[in-house]
Amino acid sequence: MISKVYFIRANREEAPEEIARKAATIYLELGLNQKIEPEDFVAIKIHFGEKYNTGHIKPRWIIGIIDEVLRKSQRTFLSDSNTLYVGCRSNSVDHLRLAWEHGFTPEVVKVPVIIADGLVGREKLEVKTAGIRIKAPRISSAFLNSNAMVCLTHVTGHVQSGVGAAIKNLGMGCASRAGKLDQHSVVHPRVSTKKCRNCGVCSQFCPAEAIVQAQEHVLIDDEKCIGCGECLVVCRYGAVKMKWDEDSERLQEKMAEYAHTVKSHFGDKICFVNFILQVTKDCDCLAKNQPAIAEDIGIVGSLDPVAVDRASIDLVNRSVGKDVFRQGYNLDWSVQLAYGEKIGLGSQKYELEELK
Ligand code: SF4
Ligand code: SF4
Repeated sequence: MISKVYFIRANREEAPEEIARKAATIYLELGLNQKIEPEDFVAIKIHFGEKYNTGHIKPRWIIGIIDEVLRKSQRTFLSDSNTLYVGCRSNSVDHLRLAWEHGFTPEVVKVPVIIADGLVGREKLEVKTAGIRIKAPRISSAFLNSNAMVCLTHVTGHVQSGVGAAIKNLGMGCASRAGKLDQHSVVHPRVSTKKCRNCGVCSQFCPAEAIVQAQEHVLIDDEKCIGCGECLVVCRYGAVKMKWDEDSERLQEKMAEYAHTVKSHFGDKICFVNFILQVTKDCDCLAKNQPAIAEDIGIVGSLDPVAVDRASIDLVNRSVGKDVFRQGYNLDWSVQLAYGEKIGLGSQKYELEELK
């Protein structure tokens, strides 16, 4: 199968209205809007960005898409699930406040923001599947109570999966806290006793109180660790490592199975729009301004999450002239794509059509 991927060149120097126009052009080309009924609940899945993060999708870039969806259904809302790790998005109140701080206010986006798994991340629905790694994915309930989804994703590198794009936004981003735990349960960080300076920063960020300070270095309690990977991201001395090959591969496979469950729920009423602007080494969960690792490229869209991710990665790597994602964490990001293809999530073969 060859999937169609639409592409428009764009960069952050352009006016937000122009980026919004381009995003809406891609969205309309995908044809989802014609399938939306007036009574449909339409979830626009997005990541609002962790506090101090600057790479996330900006509210003014998506107004064109929102306007188009609103023309079809007034029951449209912006949404994300709460996070596993300690930060400003681990409960709905903090999460909503942060979304407002980042400009996702009713005045700007014209639709409500609803955190999909409730106040503290417990509102989930379990789906029975024939998955190989996961038999009963636990998805944030607002997503499974919706009739259509527009999945908007900022393409980035990722500390656990090499690349974080549409598959990750769908698989991890639509999972409830319990679902995120399912997927992370294969991750086992280790602390290098030689590199650790015993600064304690990782233990402050650990959501599971799994890190204890010993005399010269910290120790991780495997029984308590939930595999969120936060310690790895916050350690400035490179003292935390994962068993990359095994851990990352299995996590990517579970993520693809979760993504498949969410996509199957929506049938033909789901589409994917990836923003390849300010592509950063880490995802938007990082609470800081990260430099771009590639030139701005534009916006791509497809009905196929595997194809849209493959096209995004190819466009970035071609523009840089090397595999800039693998360079970040030496992870094989292709597992999520190949496994996604194997389980019927989509196709890595695509035809790119450039729009204006
Ligand atoms: S942040 Fe790094 S250096 Fe500091 S205690 Fe944790 S592992 Fe050690
Ligand atoms: S030890 Fe690291 S991976 Fe495990 S729960 Fe704590 S921060 Fe997350």
